Amino acid sequence: MFTTSSNRTLHWFRNDLRLADNPALLAAAQSPECLTIFIDETNAGHRARGAASRWWLHGALWELEQSIAKKGGRLLIAKGDSRQLIPEIASALGVEHVTWNRRYSAAERATDTAIKAQLGEIGIEATSFNGNLLYEPMEIKTQAGGPMRVFTPFWKACRLKRVPAPPVPLPERFSSPELTADFHSTFVTLDQLKLLPTKPDWAGGIRAAWQPGEAGAMAALNAFLDGPFEGYAEHRDNPDRPSTSLLSPFLAHGNISPRQIWQAVETARLSGSTAASARDEEKFFAELGWREFSYHLLFHFPEITRSNYQSRFDAFPWAENAAGLKAWQCGQTGYPIVDAGMRQLWQTGFMHNRVRMIVASFLIKHLMIDWRQGEDWFWDTLVDADPASNAASWQWVAGSGADAAPYFRIFNPITQGEKFDPNGEYVRIYVPELARLPADVIHRPWEASPSMRAAAGVKLGRDYPAPIVAHDEARKRALAAFQALNEA
Ligand code: FAD
Repeated sequence: MFTTSSNRTLHWFRNDLRLADNPALLAAAQSPECLTIFIDETNAGHRARGAASRWWLHGALWELEQSIAKKGGRLLIAKGDSRQLIPEIASALGVEHVTWNRRYSAAERATDTAIKAQLGEIGIEATSFNGNLLYEPMEIKTQAGGPMRVFTPFWKACRLKRVPAPPVPLPERFSSPELTADFHSTFVTLDQLKLLPTKPDWAGGIRAAWQPGEAGAMAALNAFLDGPFEGYAEHRDNPDRPSTSLLSPFLAHGNISPRQIWQAVETARLSGSTAASARDEEKFFAELGWREFSYHLLFHFPEITRSNYQSRFDAFPWAENAAGLKAWQCGQTGYPIVDAGMRQLWQTGFMHNRVRMIVASFLIKHLMIDWRQGEDWFWDTLVDADPASNAASWQWVAGSGADAAPYFRIFNPITQGEKFDPNGEYVRIYVPELARLPADVIHRPWEASPSMRAAAGVKLGRDYPAPIVAHDEARKRALAAFQALNEA
């Protein structure tokens, strides 16, 4: 356990916006005086948060301010370049020690290393912790000592290495000193960060769907343990029913840690409070494993956020297709499962994993649009936008990633819809103009007879678009392009 002899410590919150299982915060709280800070970083080279993430951040910070205050502490908020702000503020506050939980993208690591060195120069200690992963990227290696590139051996190596550590205790109290110096120009209020959309306020659907912060995370975790955990292995691919945990946005902002989730899942299974099977549990743990694997890749191959992991894909003839991109973003492609997914994303800031794979495959393979354009859209609109999982997953679908889907796997949006949303329930929610079509044609409305469409109130091209590309042709075109790349 970390102990500090420092009198005054500053904890710097980043993507660990929680009190529970927060080792860097716990360490800071042990010193006689503890302050906490969040910085809305504007550092050059850092990727700016997307709009949906900013919405989430506001809610999570609002809750954090209250829960820190209830324990006698204070959350300071600033905006600017953290390389300048952290040393300046730490020095002005007279802190002897700064703590934080580690992050893993190249730009963030460079920032943290630079800040640690700057703090050292002015006699302030900095200590970093693992608060966000079960297994940090530097812990897991191949037998030759290199990074892992394939999921199955990666996850096996993790499981063999050790069981995940249990969560650390909650800090009991924070003793935050009164600030004597004049900090008016340094600190801002949460509202001054202007994280919420105003003109227009497009967040109504997102607000209705989510409660950012630790309390919301616990509610989601409990709802999962009492609900879709049982049968997770069998049903997790079904978007037409509650089938997954919906924990990803809480994880992305650190409102809950993977160690908390792991322990709660294991406890629920062992205590018999759930009828979930060992298979359900293993499958769920493996999904957490994919998150870990994405971070492993991000750490060891930092360029995956923008460059093809397999460089042969650099020669791929991506199409300039602004109209196709727009139709995809707006959920107007004429393929109901694709449109339902894209509209779920726009309305709620979230999309079911199976549907993410289908819409990503459609953009990349049917429209031949560069995966980076899809990744950018997801980054801006997902409440769980995550630097590791988003890039790694897009590259997985494109076939350009490590351990990626083979390029010839081109999802058929019609049969995928029929398989995973067999009664069209998911489509009926998000594409209401098709709601009255019978299940056997809802994923292929152009094949419904004119009288059937008329009875359902659907005129193609008026109420709902005809497909913007024909599946068979698009498939052949994509296969030929990927085949050519493979033979080059
Ligand atoms: P559950 O099924 O309950 O899984 C539990 C947790 O495991 C999730 O919360 C998540 O942290 C992790 N997980 C599950 N599946 C994956 C996966 N395939 N890759 C990595 N971690 C996973 N996930 C993000 O968190 N942020 C992203 O920006 C993101 N972008 C994606 C883009 C594409 C194109 C695709 C195909 C997938 C993306 N994913 C992303 C992964 C996955 O879709 C989500 O993590 C999942 O849908 C979250 O829902 P859940 O919490 O209910 O998942």
